[in-house]
Amino acid sequence: MRAATLPALPAAAARAADFMIQPLSAQDRVFVLTGAGISAESGLPTFRGADGLWRGHHVQDVATPEAFRANPEMVWQFYSERRKRHATVSANPAHFALVELERHLGERFFLCTQNVDSLHEQAGSKRIVHMHGRLMQTRCSRETCRTKPFEDDRAYLSRAEIPTCPQCGALLRPHICWFGEVPFSMDRIFEQLRICTVLLTVGTSGVVEPAASFVRMARINRARAIYIGPEEPANRPFFDEVLLGKAGEVLPKLVKELAG
Ligand code: NAD
Ligand code: ZN
Repeated sequence: MRAATLPALPAAAARAADFMIQPLSAQDRVFVLTGAGISAESGLPTFRGADGLWRGHHVQDVATPEAFRANPEMVWQFYSERRKRHATVSANPAHFALVELERHLGERFFLCTQNVDSLHEQAGSKRIVHMHGRLMQTRCSRETCRTKPFEDDRAYLSRAEIPTCPQCGALLRPHICWFGEVPFSMDRIFEQLRICTVLLTVGTSGVVEPAASFVRMARINRARAIYIGPEEPANRPFFDEVLLGKAGEVLPKLVKELAG
């Protein structure tokens, strides 16, 4: 992941939550991109919203392979706290609205989330990829090791508790795409960006790459691009429609309009 620098283009008009959106046709294919904002109303803080600090560390300094090599205990404490917090939260109306949209569209729906939480799955989403990994999965820290990530909700608070790989003996790590690492499922994501006719982006600030550039990629093939969130994203000029408001309030209405 890295920060984006986007050239300025003429801005599209932003609208309040009372909108009228053209319903989808039988040919439309919808690519949905979600970020931390969609889980904010469930009680999971966005990093930027929570001032980006954890026990005096910048989140960027905890979420790196270098941090894990230098201090695996500190990194596991950070993710263990997030796992515990995750156990106390539930999917909100925005997550459920996307399940509704998926039911309506079937295989013409694709959900790509930057979130590592499992709230989309908890709501019932099926056609989903987690480009930044899963908080509730663990994998081997050795790049060349072929053992697969596995479901894991445990907390590891001391060095002695951190488990090792049964195949190669390396420390196990959270299945998360850290800063400087390559996001997951990119081939599938690029293919879906190529064929979508509508791009729905929800609750992401538009500064974390490569996700910040998805809107430009989708627009190469003239997809209609809609953004939903309480403030304009950094890549706002690339959107046809910017619907200002909370995801939990705007998305259920939008899905009704789109589904006709
Ligand atoms: P981000 O860059 O995705 O920014 C958060 C965005 O959410 C902001 O643009 C903000 O305006 C918007 N937002 C806030 N409340 C909202 C609401 N109620 N409805 C809709 N939008 C809302 O996220 P970040 O926090 O800077 O995170 C950077 C990276 O870390 C991303 O990959 C992000 O997804 C990940 N992250 C994931 C989780 C999670 O899994 N729940 C939580 C924090 C961060
Ligand atoms: Zn291994």
